[in-house]
Amino acid sequence: MDTADRAHAPVVVAIDGPSGSGKSTVSRAVAARLGLSFLDTGAMYRAMTWWMLANEVDVTDAEAVAVACGKPVIVSGVDAAGPTITVDGQDVSGPIRGPEVTAQVSAVSAVPQVRTRLVELQRGCAELAERGIVAEGRDMGTVVFPTATVKVFLTASQNARAERRAAELRAKGVDEATITAMAADLARRDAADSSRDTSPLTQAADAVLVDTSELTLEQVIETITALVEQKAGLTAV
Ligand code: C5P
Repeated sequence: MDTADRAHAPVVVAIDGPSGSGKSTVSRAVAARLGLSFLDTGAMYRAMTWWMLANEVDVTDAEAVAVACGKPVIVSGVDAAGPTITVDGQDVSGPIRGPEVTAQVSAVSAVPQVRTRLVELQRGCAELAERGIVAEGRDMGTVVFPTATVKVFLTASQNARAERRAAELRAKGVDEATITAMAADLARRDAADSSRDTSPLTQAADAVLVDTSELTLEQVIETITALVEQKAGLTAV
């Protein structure tokens, strides 16, 4: 369809927030309800990190990461019903969630050249989305999509986020020592993501703050869906 034929300009919903705020689950559900594409930009930073580790690039050496970051071909599938992520044609959706990548991703994502490259890919995904896209990450509203139709900053108290993550892990049968280590890692990653020089995690001036500490998942999804319907004139599909 030609852009001129669209009833509305494609909608961009930018959702930012710290780890464990429920961004991915909420963003994907909102996208599915409204018939929009879904982009998990954290998965792209994780995919870049996975490739660096697989190719023995020293991820603590920002120069080395900057030189290598143009090499991997990272492709995000943006169907909200089944998002995908590949690196050089390989499905990495499992390995990018592992502890090695999780421990190193903040260092890789702080390298400006990595961000320049991935931001370009992220904007490309939005341009290709027919009806629009829900993009989630840390700098969607501030840097990647400054003119987004709707901006949301999703947060929850450190306690609520740690407890949710612990409950998820417990349900998977993970032991308590690992759960404690994961909680420490979450706090460390938040501090690194919020204090880095390039595109730190901050709330855009025009973003709507949604504190999910006292809300159920369904309540958060409904709140954001209603916000997008109202601001973008979209209705659920
Ligand atoms: O969202 P997720 O926790 O999977 O993101 C993994 C990491 O990717 C974050 O801790 C952050 O370092 C980085 N990230 C980023 N900018 C984004 C999305 C994620 O720097 N837009």
